[in-house]
Amino acid sequence: MVQEVNAAGGCLCGAVRFKVHGVPIRMAQCHCRDCQRASGTGHMSNAIFKTADVEVSGTTASYASTADSGNTLTRHFCPTCGGRLFLYSAARPGMIVMAAGAFDDMSWFEPQIVLYTKNKPAWDLVSEAVPHFEGMPPPPPPKA
Ligand SMILES: [Zn+2]
Ligand SMILES: [Zn+2]
Repeated sequence: MVQEVNAAGGCLCGAVRFKVHGVPIRMAQCHCRDCQRASGTGHMSNAIFKTADVEVSGTTASYASTADSGNTLTRHFCPTCGGRLFLYSAARPGMIVMAAGAFDDMSWFEPQIVLYTKNKPAWDLVSEAVPHFEGMPPPPPPKA
C-alpha cells in the first residue's frame, strides 16, 4: 500500500524548495538515456504526484526534450547549482514527476517499476523483485 507523502525538499544550494503532500501516483526508476544524461548517473528515481499536491518556491531553469515515446518532457533544475528537481510530461497534464533524491527525507520512496532496462549499465544494481520493463511501462492507473 502506497503511503501518503508529507515531505519537503530542494536543490543542493537551497535556492529552490518544494513541499509535497499527497499519495504518489507511481514511483519509478528510469534508465533511459535522457535520464542518464540529465542526472549524470545510471538512472533517475522519480515519484509522480498530482501537480496540485506540490508547492514550489524559488525559480527553476528548464530544458525540454522529446522522449523516444514522442512525448515532450520538460526537466526543471536549479539555475545556480544544477540540482535536478522535477519534470513535466506533455502526455500527463496535471502531473509532476519529482526527483526522489531532492527530498530532505527520501525514506518513503520505493520504486514500483524499473524502466528502460535496455539502457541499464551492469554497474547500476537494481532489485530483481521490482518489475522491469525494457522500455516504457504501461500507462499509470487512472486516479480519482
Ligand atoms: Zn540550487
Ligand atoms: Zn528516463
